[in-house]
Amino acid sequence: MSFANLGLNPSLLKTIESSGYTTPTAVQVAAIPAALAGHDLLVSSHTGSGKTAAFLLPSLQRISAASSKPGKGPRVLVLTPTRELAQQVEKAAWTYGAEMNRLRTAVLVGGSPYALQLKKLKDPVDIVVATPGRLMDHMESGRIDFSRLEVLVLDEADRMLDMGFIDDIQTIVARTPESRQTLLFSATLDGTVGALARKLTRNPQRIEVATPVQHEARIDQRLLFADNFSHKNKLLDALLRDTELNQALIFTATKRGAEELAESLFEQGFAVDALHGDMQQSKRNRTLQRLRDGRTRVLVATDVAARGIDVAGISHVINFDLPRQAEDYVHRIGRTGRAGRTGSAITLVNHSEKRLVRDIERYTSQTIRIDVIAGLEPTARADKPAPSRRPSFGDKPKKPFAARGNDRFDGARKASPSTGSKPRTGAGAGNGAPWSGGFRSDGPRTNAGPSRRRFSE
Ligand code: AMP
Repeated sequence: MSFANLGLNPSLLKTIESSGYTTPTAVQVAAIPAALAGHDLLVSSHTGSGKTAAFLLPSLQRISAASSKPGKGPRVLVLTPTRELAQQVEKAAWTYGAEMNRLRTAVLVGGSPYALQLKKLKDPVDIVVATPGRLMDHMESGRIDFSRLEVLVLDEADRMLDMGFIDDIQTIVARTPESRQTLLFSATLDGTVGALARKLTRNPQRIEVATPVQHEARIDQRLLFADNFSHKNKLLDALLRDTELNQALIFTATKRGAEELAESLFEQGFAVDALHGDMQQSKRNRTLQRLRDGRTRVLVATDVAARGIDVAGISHVINFDLPRQAEDYVHRIGRTGRAGRTGSAITLVNHSEKRLVRDIERYTSQTIRIDVIAGLEPTARADKPAPSRRPSFGDKPKKPFAARGNDRFDGARKASPSTGSKPRTGAGAGNGAPWSGGFRSDGPRTNAGPSRRRFSE
């Protein structure tokens, strides 16, 4: 199948070619012709599947013809859960719409000054990409005219619901014309998302193509067990010194954790930045630009801040803390292996967190390989009873794992040393290791205020 068979016009085919895409992805093959035919769509697809082009290309084709209605409001509205994703979508619209005559776009997201957004809304606009909260603000002050809206896209709808945007979404949709085409993309179409999707669409075509299993095929996933916080830091240090590593995205559970870890790595001499939701949008943009330019080698981020990051140079995703939800794991590791490349996803796990790992494995229908780094093997047995248990994702009743036979984590200590990892030198052996001064001990975290280093400007 080629793009030429999907019904796209020559100017879009030209920009696709300039983007270097030769073959449409599965979601593009299924969604583009259906959207061009005017159908509403419910698409279950994961990040990295090519979903952005799947909704932008048919939407751009539609607006390449002049509007039959007067007014200056958007003809396409894309709702996304985060600012980063919104910016990514706008960038993709410029890329694919490069051959179109004066494509006008506006991004309406929180954390950015209102002034520029208001200025954009004074002029005619073709595509608005927005997060629901900020769009509601503009709607309430009467600045958005949806009278000529033709296409409504809900991107990562499940995430928007997770983030509590359901009421905002329903209010926004109620203000759009009934004649609109609705394209809903979500990792899952079950539960609340499915119910909302049915409410917002008319005779939709349901497309289910990308499972996490297919998507992650080019990402090598590994688990490294850590005995304690100090051991975890040593493992991280070894991973970051791997010569195969180009750029790494490290995930922490909290904003504070991201700041602290970035500061610690900065002290170790790494070119590191932190990215989290408390940062001003302008600073987040600068941080992402440094990452894109390759000036930052290591970015420490929280889940929400990292959504939508699409930087081809990210060779490694490291889960310093486990994600709160199994689904976040899929989003995290999807930040590597971009644009057809391969990537590594390494998850550092405390022995008490095995249950959370199993939840991830169940969600992705994949077993994550247990690995060790030579010289940094865990000393505690991985199968020891957990001293305490963090609540599991959703805490649903689960099948007892004993029923599966031997616990695969029993052998954690015996796993063969990582082939990709370099033998430990002085740094990992504890003889004047550069990490030994800078990394925190296992004691309680300090209450030191936010860092004043450049990553916390
Ligand atoms: P998305 O799922 O929209 O976040 O896209 C994931 C990545 O795949 C982005 O870097 C896109 O530029 C890239 N991409 C989208 N469509 C194609 C395609 N047909 N061939 C190769 N890469 C693509």
